[in-house]
Amino acid sequence: MNNLKRREMLTRLRDDNPHPTTELHYTTPFELLIAVILSAQATDVGVNKATARLYPVANTPESILALGVEGLKEYIKTIGLFNAKAENVIKTCRILIEQHDSKVPEDRAALEALPGVGRKTANVVLNTAFGWPTIAVDTHIFRVSNRTGLAKGKNVNDVEQKLLKVVPKEFKVDVHHWLILHGRYICVARKPRCGACLIEDLCEFKEKTEL
Ligand code: SF4
Repeated sequence: MNNLKRREMLTRLRDDNPHPTTELHYTTPFELLIAVILSAQATDVGVNKATARLYPVANTPESILALGVEGLKEYIKTIGLFNAKAENVIKTCRILIEQHDSKVPEDRAALEALPGVGRKTANVVLNTAFGWPTIAVDTHIFRVSNRTGLAKGKNVNDVEQKLLKVVPKEFKVDVHHWLILHGRYICVARKPRCGACLIEDLCEFKEKTEL
């Protein structure tokens, strides 16, 4: 895809949704961090159901730590991999209290040092809580970037680096959410809804559908 088409594609996505954000429910950077840790290999809807019960009871590092691993599991047991996630969340709360004054650090290395937090989670938190122009490439962004030709790559790291290079500055903060939402609702994995797609004429995917 050439730069002219890239710009047009991103302009259309922006016009369609000028203020995109995550579908995870949160009110503080800490709530977002925990929700993102819980969302690995789980749906946002499932995580929101769990945090809707958890956060009124505990939504700070101290209060979640006080629940303990077993207490936390009671709130998140409907989410996949909840045993490992409970352990990671409790360890993360302890580190935030002991090393970061109970705050979520606005620092990539410090975030990635937290249990359960990898590059993708750090990117989401830096972008969504702190407004950094980071691009967390998940399965949706990987698929949309490759199908459209916006940024082709063999793996998520390739695509992330390509996107960082080719996406114009004015779109960088929001491109993460536009592509996720596009992949979640229009350019879905099995049968993309090309007939309902607002970038169909720009997209370079060879097997478009009429849906
Ligand atoms: S035209 Fe089809 S393949 Fe291309 S972005 Fe739209 S839904 Fe995806």
